[in-house]
Amino acid sequence: MKQIAERLTIPKTREDLLEELREADADVTACFQCGRCSAGCPVAEFFDLKPMEVVRLCCYGEENLLTESRTVWLCASCETCTTRCPNGIDIARVMDVLRSRALRKGQVRIEPKVVAFHKSFLGSIRNHGRVFEMGMLTGYMLRTGDLFSRMGLGLEMFKRGKIKFLPERIKGTGEIRSMFRRK
Ligand code: SF4
Ligand code: SF4
Repeated sequence: MKQIAERLTIPKTREDLLEELREADADVTACFQCGRCSAGCPVAEFFDLKPMEVVRLCCYGEENLLTESRTVWLCASCETCTTRCPNGIDIARVMDVLRSRALRKGQVRIEPKVVAFHKSFLGSIRNHGRVFEMGMLTGYMLRTGDLFSRMGLGLEMFKRGKIKFLPERIKGTGEIRSMFRRK
């Protein structure tokens, strides 16, 4: 945190960020820094910013610091922090908003494999309305250039019927695509 604090800059996008968070029902300005979110996070030891620090930096509008931190990309979206917050702040959604904004702005410079997985997962949802594992994994392998290391595992999963060659169709895929187009 010390190194990051030294790099604090004058926030330029603060109001824009706070507005998008409010629209996502995640009003970070309600935080009183009790620390319950950080204390409950199961992967906080791998973060460079604790969840409570993410919330505070959002209030400062320090978006670049946040999207360059490992925390935003390593968050497992388990929502433990969200359920523990006494002020009802949806911290997991804060992480979602930060990832989404970073991808839209092309501001992703760290954890390339996590970002590749994130894009492949969202691409699968956009195209099929649900995760199509074969397509998602193929997208991930192409994005990372790692074509063979998990081939054995993939074949084993296929043999056990855990992944399919063709996607299942669901209703409302057009609506899902239009939701993606709105952002
Ligand atoms: S639990 Fe809620 S109020 Fe407490 S520090 Fe985390 S975000 Fe802030
Ligand atoms: S949603 Fe992310 S930040 Fe919150 S507890 Fe889970 S891993 Fe930690």
